[in-house]
Amino acid sequence: MSRQQTEHAVVLGASMAGLLAARVLADRYPRVTVLDRDHLVPDPASPRRGVPQGAHIHALLARGQQALEELIPGLTEELIGRGAPAGDLLGDSRWFVGGHRFRRARSGVPVLCASRPLLEDTVRARVSAMSGVDVVARTEVVGFETAGDGLRVTGVRVRREGRAGDEPVPADLVVDATGRGSRTPRWLGAMGLPVPEEERVTIGLGYATRTYRARPGAIGSDLGIIPAPYPPLGRGGGLAVIEGDRWIVTLAGVLGDHPPADAAGFEAFARSLPVPDLHDAIAGAEPLDDPVPFRFPASVRRRYERLARFPDRLLVLGDAFCSFNPVYGQGMTVAALEALALRRHLRARPPRPRAFHRHVARIVDAPWDMVVGGDLAFPGVQGRRTAKIRLVDAYLGRLQAAAADDAEVAVAFVRVAGLVDGPGALLHPRIALRVARHARRGRAAGTPGGTDAPGPRRPIRPTGSTGGAHP
Ligand SMILES: Cc1cc2nc3c(=O)[nH]c(=O)nc-3n(C[C@H](O)[C@H](O)[C@H](O)COP(=O)(O)OP(=O)(O)OC[C@H]3O[C@@H](n4cnc5c(N)ncnc54)[C@H](O)[C@@H]3O)c2cc1C
Repeated sequence: MSRQQTEHAVVLGASMAGLLAARVLADRYPRVTVLDRDHLVPDPASPRRGVPQGAHIHALLARGQQALEELIPGLTEELIGRGAPAGDLLGDSRWFVGGHRFRRARSGVPVLCASRPLLEDTVRARVSAMSGVDVVARTEVVGFETAGDGLRVTGVRVRREGRAGDEPVPADLVVDATGRGSRTPRWLGAMGLPVPEEERVTIGLGYATRTYRARPGAIGSDLGIIPAPYPPLGRGGGLAVIEGDRWIVTLAGVLGDHPPADAAGFEAFARSLPVPDLHDAIAGAEPLDDPVPFRFPASVRRRYERLARFPDRLLVLGDAFCSFNPVYGQGMTVAALEALALRRHLRARPPRPRAFHRHVARIVDAPWDMVVGGDLAFPGVQGRRTAKIRLVDAYLGRLQAAAADDAEVAVAFVRVAGLVDGPGALLHPRIALRVARHARRGRAAGTPGGTDAPGPRRPIRPTGSTGGAHP
């Protein structure tokens, strides 16, 4: 048997990033083993311990849906078949961003509302069924096996549940997808190699999430209500209709102003949001569980692409590379885009870590800038507010006000928020002109723009600042 026929790729972590990496590795490596320390519960209704964020609302951005479909054709239909509702991102959801209720319009941008456990379960089933792929649970990775003074990774050491001691798992390629708690930086340090610089934006975010039995007709035919947190209050949330005729409702607060995890406190926090829609929806709805809290202290970006020395045959992706403030809903989409990038880098075998990490860094750049820009709009968030950030922030405030009246501007915004278009699309002369026109009209009318919107497009509060879910 030739070496190529026996080559073995090992992926650390069987969550979204790891599974999608395994998906593309399986096209190139005859054996792909995905190791996870968790019990990979086959019940799609319950979140598992290793992915505690699975209990919370998980928006799959439009670009992520596209990328997943490219990786796993037919996935969307399968999710719909398993009960996930699908619709139009702007036409079937109520968006409140930066204090403005966006004008509703068909955007042509799809939205698919699956719970995180259903999504992961469906992806795991499809990837596990691929020839050569073995997903192994209850197996914790505790270090790398190396050669050549640590400059080549030759496998990992694992500890299997119920067995004493560690054992080696040899590999021709190792991909770290163990999430934000990845121990690769520590293991590199212990091997005497440089560790990646870490950039952090501390947001002090708290979530609390509860599911309800959907109340037929209570929110019309809408699939989502999205009051994004914005300064200075920083309270927001999301309601999504998910499989099983349920609503998942996540409340969010920044800088320590966290939603309580008791029923009365949860309800009161929902009532305190700047728009009544979410509270009105859950008032009288039947809860199916107790609120579940989650704390997310900071977005973290690790600069692997800048390392001068890094072992061969080791790649890092997913949240292990960059973990974003989840309010923007980007993590799974970025993981899917990184898997597509990995597919390209596998044309060289083994792929070159530096080139791959540079590619991943380019994928991360735009979503990371959105998080940094959006979070720095909160005066309590520490960080350097460059002239560019302040300018973009001021422009976005005007753009969001315009989106309350102008469907074309609203569509441009949701396309960028969905990572379908890059942020530059918001500066397109056509959009910039509409924003400027709207601001002029607002000034002439003595309002900051959008405040004269009739009926359901009631503005929440005039503001020039921005908040979560904004590019
Ligand atoms: C509260 C919250 C809400 C979010 N909401 C959204 C959203 O709306 N939309 C979106 O796209 N993204 C969202 N995200 C981000 C999203 O969950 C992640 O980006 C996505 O899961 C990809 O992460 P990952 O696979 O890299 O890591 P993770 O999902 O963290 O998975 C890491 C895996 O590695 C395993 N593991 C860890 N250490 C070891 C080890 N030593 N040995 C073996 N296995 C190990 C774990 O058991 C786990 O299975 C949210 C995140 C949080 C925290």
